[in-house]
Amino acid sequence: MAHLRSVNMDRFLTLDQGGRVQVMYVWIDGSDETMRCKTRTLEKEPEKPSDCPEWTFDGSSTGQSEGRNSDVYLRPAALFRDPFRGGNNKLLLCDTYNFDMTPNATNHRVACLDAMTKPKVRDAHPWFGIEQEYTLFDTDGSVLGWPKGGFPGPQGPYYCGVGAARTFGREVVEAHYRACLYAGVKIAGTNAEVMPAQWEFQVGPSEGIDMGDHLWMARFLLYRVAEEFNVVVSLDPKPMSGDWNGAGAHCNYSTAEMREAGGINHIESAIEKLRKRHPYHISMYDPRGGKDNERRLTGRHETSDIHTFSSGVAHRGASIRIPRHIAADKCGYLEDRRPSSNCDPYQVTEAMVRTTILDEQ
Ligand code: ADP
Ligand code: MN
Ligand code: MN
Ligand code: MN
Repeated sequence: MAHLRSVNMDRFLTLDQGGRVQVMYVWIDGSDETMRCKTRTLEKEPEKPSDCPEWTFDGSSTGQSEGRNSDVYLRPAALFRDPFRGGNNKLLLCDTYNFDMTPNATNHRVACLDAMTKPKVRDAHPWFGIEQEYTLFDTDGSVLGWPKGGFPGPQGPYYCGVGAARTFGREVVEAHYRACLYAGVKIAGTNAEVMPAQWEFQVGPSEGIDMGDHLWMARFLLYRVAEEFNVVVSLDPKPMSGDWNGAGAHCNYSTAEMREAGGINHIESAIEKLRKRHPYHISMYDPRGGKDNERRLTGRHETSDIHTFSSGVAHRGASIRIPRHIAADKCGYLEDRRPSSNCDPYQVTEAMVRTTILDEQ
C-alpha cells in the first residue's frame, strides 16, 4: 500500500492547532468485538465526557441499524488523553442508542451501569482486574512470525519468553503499554502467552463501571497501535485449533469484604453462588452466548470444560481459581477463568455483581 507509513507524520502532528481540540469518538460496533471511531473539532478542551456533545453515525454501515432510521446516537461515557495526536486532544468512549433512545443491541454498558449503581453494589466496592489475551496476525492472515504455511515448534518456550525465536510482535506490546499509560487507562501489566504471537495485558484493579470502560479503551488502543505496525489484532478465543492454547479474559474479582482480614469466607460464599449460576455466566462470557467459548473451554490447554463448574486453589483447569497467595493470606480475590478473550467486560462484570452481591437467582 502506497508509502503512507514512511512519511514522517511529526511534521504535521507538531503543527499548531490554533487552540482547537480534536476529539476522537470511539464506540463498540455491531460485532460486539471490533470498534469504530470518528473525529470532530471542539473549540475548547473538554474536562469531562459531558463537555463533549452527543453525536450520531450511520448504524447501517456498522451492523447497528436498518437502512431506514439508520442514525445511531453516540453518548459520551469516558474521556482519555489521545496518545496518537498528543497535546490536549482526546479519545472519547461512547455508548450507543437507537433512534428511540433505547440502548443499541451491543450496548451492554447501560445494564452494567444499572447494576453497578445499585446501593448494595456501590457499598460493596467491587473491584475487577481483567487479563486480556489476544493474538497478532500478519495482514495476509497468517499468525505473526509463524513460518508461512507452516507451524513453529510446540508450545513451551513462548510463555513469558524472550528472544527472536520465541517472541513475535513485542513492538506492538510495548507501544500499546505506553499508549495506555499516556491515555490514562489503568493497565496493570503485560506478558507473552503460551502460544507464540499470543500476548496478554491486564487492566485493573478497577471499580464498577470503570472496568468495562478502561478495558474497551485499552482494546481500542491495541487495534490502533497495531494498525501503525501493519499488524492485525484478533480477540478470537481459539484462533488456531489443535495443540495451541486459546485466548481468554480471566476476570479477577473482589469486594471490600473479601479484601479484609478473613475475607476468604466471603470468597468461598461467592464461589458457591457462582456454582449455582454456571449457565447464566457462560451466556454472558462471550458475544455469542457461549458459542465462541465452546471452542476454547475444552477442559484442555489450561481451561475447564464449558459444561462443568469447578473451583480450586491454584487450579488452572478450574472455572474459578483461588490464587495460591490468596489462600495463604486468607483474603483477597478470586479469578473467574471462564470469560472468553472477546467477552464484553460490561457483561462479565454485570453478571458477577448480579450473582454475588445482588443475589439474583
Ligand atoms: P495470573 O496469575 O492469573 O496470570 P495476572 O497477574 O495476569 O494473574 O492478573 C491479575 C489481575 O488481578 C491484575 O489485573 C490485577 O490488577 C488484578 N487484581 C489484583 N488484586 C485484585 C483485587 N483485590 N480484586 C480484583 N482484582 C485484583
Ligand atoms: Mn495473567
Ligand atoms: Mn494468561
Ligand atoms: Mn489468570
